[in-house]
Order: sequence, then C-alpha cells, then structure tokens
Amino acid sequence: MAKGLPLLEDLGDVAGKRVLVRTDFNVPLETADDGTRTITDDFRIRAALPTITWLTERGATVVTASHLGRPKGKSDERYSMDPVRARLAELAPGVELLENLRFDPGEEANDPAFVAELVEGVDAYVDDAFGAAHRAHASIVGPPRTLPSAAGRLLQREVEVLGGLRAKPRRPFVAVLGGAKVSDKLGVIAALSQLVDAFVIGGGMCFTFLAAKGNPVGDSLCERDQIDSCAELLRGKVPIHLPEDIVGVDAAGNYATWGTRLPDGAKGFDIGPGSAAAFADVIADAGTVFWNGPMGMFEDDRFAAGTRTVAQAVADTKAFTVVGGGDSAAALAQFRLDDDVDHVSTGGGASLELLELGDLPGLEALRGAPNAPEEG
Ligand code: ADP
Ligand code: MG
Repeated sequence: MAKGLPLLEDLGDVAGKRVLVRTDFNVPLETADDGTRTITDDFRIRAALPTITWLTERGATVVTASHLGRPKGKSDERYSMDPVRARLAELAPGVELLENLRFDPGEEANDPAFVAELVEGVDAYVDDAFGAAHRAHASIVGPPRTLPSAAGRLLQREVEVLGGLRAKPRRPFVAVLGGAKVSDKLGVIAALSQLVDAFVIGGGMCFTFLAAKGNPVGDSLCERDQIDSCAELLRGKVPIHLPEDIVGVDAAGNYATWGTRLPDGAKGFDIGPGSAAAFADVIADAGTVFWNGPMGMFEDDRFAAGTRTVAQAVADTKAFTVVGGGDSAAALAQFRLDDDVDHVSTGGGASLELLELGDLPGLEALRGAPNAPEEG
C-alpha cells in the first residue's frame, strides 16, 4: 500500500530526542564594504519557527541545518551561517544551527558519507525546507532512509496549498507569470496549460512571446532559441494575455513608452499602464490566481509600476491567491501587500516544480521514511 507524507504527529514522543530540522535559511544578505553581512529579510527564519517551537515545546533538542548561497562545496567565510545563527538565537534561543551544508561537496552530490555525518547522534529528522525540496541533496533525501521523519509545518502547508491548486482549483484559474528567463519556466508553462484557464505574461519573459508573434523587441531580454516553443504555446488552446504597451529606455538611454513593436536599441523594462490595467481585470475576475515573477525590473522605481498594479490586483481579488518565487514575494513585501494574499510560497523553483509534477524528491523521500503512515 502507498505511504502518505509523515507529519510532526507521526514522529511519536520527541521528549529528550535530538531532532535534525532541515530548514531553508537561504536569506538575502547585504554585504558592507568591510565585509559585514546583514540579513535584509528574515522571513525564511521566522517561517521555520512554528515547527521549531512545536518540537522544543515537547522537549526535543533541535538542531537546524541549511544551505546559504552557492559556496560550491568548500568552506568560504562569505557564506558562513554566522548572521543567520545570530538572528536565530534571538528568535529561538537554544536552537543549534550547523554550518552551511554546501561547504561540504557531499551535500549537493548526495554522498552517503555526508548523510552518515548528518544523522550521527540524531534520533529523528524533520524537513521544513520547501525551497530546497526539489533538490535530491544529501540533507533532503538522505536522513529519511534511516530516521523517523516528518514534514514540518511549513512544508506541510506548501503541499496542501499547491497540491490543492492541482487537485481542485476554483475557476477560472489564472497563472500570472513574469521574471527574467523564459527557459527556466517554459516547462511549467507547458504543464500548467493542462491546469489553468488563462495565462497572463509580463516581465522579461514577455518579449520572447512578443517575438514569437513577429514583433520587433529591440534590445529587450529575448531568448531566441525559445521562440519556437513560445509560438507553439501561443497556438495552444489556453489563452495567453500579453502586454499591449511597454515601458523602458530607448537607444539614447531615455525613459520611453511604446506599443508592442519596439524600435531598434529599445530595452523594455516594465509592462505599460494599459497592460497593467488589462492584467488587473483578468485577475479580478479569476477564481484562483497563481503568480510567479515580477512584471518588470521593479527594483528600479521607474519600472515598478506594472508589478505594483498587478500585486495590488492580486491583493484585491476575491480569488484564492498564491504567490511563489523569491523576487515576487520580495515585491509583495516591498508594497506591503504580503498579508493580503492567501499564501506566499517560500520556494520559487520548488513551487513551480510541485505544480508542474505534483511531487518533489524531498516529499518522496519522506514518504519512504520508516514511520510513514499507510495512506488510506
Ligand atoms: P521569482 O524570483 O519571483 O521567481 P525571477 O527570479 O524569475 O522571479 O525574476 C525576477 C527578476 O526578473 C527581477 O530581478 C526583475 O528585475 C527581472 N525582470 C523582470 N522584468 C524584466 C525585464 N523586462 N527586463 C529585465 N529584467 C526583468
Ligand atoms: Mg528570483
């Protein structure tokens, strides 16, 4: 019989036990000239607290472990967990945090020797690192092979919400997609075509679609080798809403607005006000909205308006709203709208992959744990 996902309750009595919690503490950091690193957003640390508290309240000793950045398998001060450890000590005193998992090449290589090191002296394992659950890394798939294991509260909620979107979305289901790279997200768009009733596409991504329609896009982001795939999606039966106006800088470097045919040298950095209003209407009429990827280079105030309008529409609609992706979540927070959506996913790639495939290596590993419940 198939096994279900083990939850914290499936761990049994944790009093006096040493529990390894795989968290996603891959927080954004700012480095000062003297090398001092400051956490610019501690959302991911705070998000792990319900699971940590659940365990400590029941008498467990909690050891957390996470990756931070891409140190490429060797010890590197610039990626040490020190700033995270300091913040964690304020939020959850007494909870340990191991050094950056990716300092060891065995983490990304899923080396059994590194898994053995991780589980040494540990009685149980909890995975609460949704943002890393799509990676078959040692700390994600290794411990559940031998230890009683569980999905933490954060991971549990992600699976419920994103799984729910796959199973029974309120219709119409609209996917709002943006961000920089089409190639990263093309697989998801294809998979979502089976699930959603309409796409809304902005951000750097829209230019490959506009090019696929034969429009000149100037020097905007455009992935030439993806044009054919975009053309095929445009021929599909799910409507794809594209921008009708574009904002950016012209060949002389001046702020400019255009329709959807861009002159030579033009760089599109945001959807225009007409597009933003049209997108907002589609979002207002939706039953479910999944949003991933900003509509423009919102980090620059001149090009934040499109993302702001769409974020406001996502906050205002009566639809069930889910936002995935680090930059999209950051945009929402910047506009102080993060409390006005139903679910902000802590994983970008992981949320897309779970929507696309319905499963992740980290979830599969947990279902294989010795204490996983019979599904029934
Ligand atoms: P998320 O993290 O939400 O998944 P992505 O990482 O895919 O989003 O994309 C976010 C990035 O895309 C932002 O840094 C933003 O500046 C950039 N971006 C959006 N639109 C454009 C554009 N038209 N040209 C260049 N970059 C863009
Ligand atoms: Mg991003």
